[in-house]
Amino acid sequence: MGMTAVQVEGLHKRYGATVAMDDIGFTVGVGEVFGILGPNGAGKTTTVEAIAGLRVPDSGTVRVHGIDPWVDRPALTRTLGVQLQESRLQAKITVREALELWSAFYTDPVPWRELAERLGLETLLDQRFATLSGGQQQRLSIALALVGRPRVAILDELSTGLDPRARRDVWQLVRDLRRDGVTVLLVTHSMEEAQTLCDRIAIVDAGRIRALDTPDGLVRNAAAATTTSFRASTVTDLGALRELPGVVDVRTVSGRVTVDGEEGVALRVLEMLADHGVTPRDLRITSGTLDSAYLDLTGVATSEEEYS
Ligand code: ATP
Repeated sequence: MGMTAVQVEGLHKRYGATVAMDDIGFTVGVGEVFGILGPNGAGKTTTVEAIAGLRVPDSGTVRVHGIDPWVDRPALTRTLGVQLQESRLQAKITVREALELWSAFYTDPVPWRELAERLGLETLLDQRFATLSGGQQQRLSIALALVGRPRVAILDELSTGLDPRARRDVWQLVRDLRRDGVTVLLVTHSMEEAQTLCDRIAIVDAGRIRALDTPDGLVRNAAAATTTSFRASTVTDLGALRELPGVVDVRTVSGRVTVDGEEGVALRVLEMLADHGVTPRDLRITSGTLDSAYLDLTGVATSEEEYS
């Protein structure tokens, strides 16, 4: 990646006994969509709020296009647009007033009507903030984050609470931002969102970055990168399968044997079966998913995970 948009080094933050950030560091290139993914309480919001200059870390440095958020606040405001998890606006302000007010902060704002249309707010212009639904408030806060044509946008739980259509629209908005060269920091709980939109993803847990890679790279490097499953022609020695190098888990459900393991395990399983004169029937080999990579790293299922 060429130029650097966001550089974070050695961020630490402690709240009493809770360590919210424990040596968080990463670099985001200009034009990159960078995902921060992790379970509740992992430190995601603390991290992006530190980048936005809204929280003072105990130690560490942040630069956004070279700007130190705690030194040059006006320059940061011109550069960075922030949609935070709970953006509280005055209860009585209308959608139109909020958009006009925010536009007035910037020298070259996006025409706010355009944004209102993109985010499905055009019929709500005269409605007061307090009377908007959660999803409508969310869409307004995204509009306010983008009205100043930021070079870097922080979107914290972009699509939480949005209906499928609104979610599709905001995903398209992120793709458009990327096309326009805007750098995006995306905090999310959703694997699908991270995998669909992000160039790279940092998986954060308990204040630490557990992995940082492209979505494909995360899947490839997960311990359970491959799942091999089959029905055996004769009783299979599961113990021998467990002993194979790179195997993480072996289980049998209703006669179907499933082996999880590193890339390359499938071949070893097939070789072993051949050596034992076992024919695998109804053989399926699948590569891992971002879900399994995430579970591997954090031990926590994502909000979308379903078990059958
Ligand atoms: P979520 O997905 O639930 O939004 P998160 O990854 O954004 O979680 P943070 O909000 O960054 O998590 O919180 C990280 C940890 O720091 C949590 O354990 C939280 O309880 C704690 N924490 C955050 N802010 C404060 C605060 N102002 N005072 C005390 N503890 C805090």
